[in-house]
Amino acid sequence: MEDCVFCKMVAGEIPITRVYEDEVVLAFLDIGPISDGHTLVIPKRHCASVHECDPDIVAGVAGRLGSIAGAVAKAMKADGYNILCNNGRAAGQVVNHMHFHIIPRKTGDALLTEWRSYKYEKGRIEEIAEKIRESLA
Ligand code: ZN
Repeated sequence: MEDCVFCKMVAGEIPITRVYEDEVVLAFLDIGPISDGHTLVIPKRHCASVHECDPDIVAGVAGRLGSIAGAVAKAMKADGYNILCNNGRAAGQVVNHMHFHIIPRKTGDALLTEWRSYKYEKGRIEEIAEKIRESLA
């Protein structure tokens, strides 16, 4: 992808602060972190989002998240971490090349606090589940 900033990073055309690289993935520090050690893990092959990427690519990235996240957490002496993957503009995806954020967390750091959960009205949960099952078929 010609205009993809992450593909340019993979190609070495844009400098990054690399923490891990192999034949499938590249991991580097986010230049706009929300905590120290905030890392991005991307597939080297361009694809846009989890549902659009070849499952082998998704699996390749997912299979490496544990070791990278564990190392990030250890290095940052984190109490925990979040792994986030934003898909689509509405979900906060800014670069249209699938990427996973590893965000080291400290107890009480007050990051990502808004999680407005609610209860389904009666019958609604089954309606929604049926729509999703139909879409999978
Ligand atoms: Zn790309």
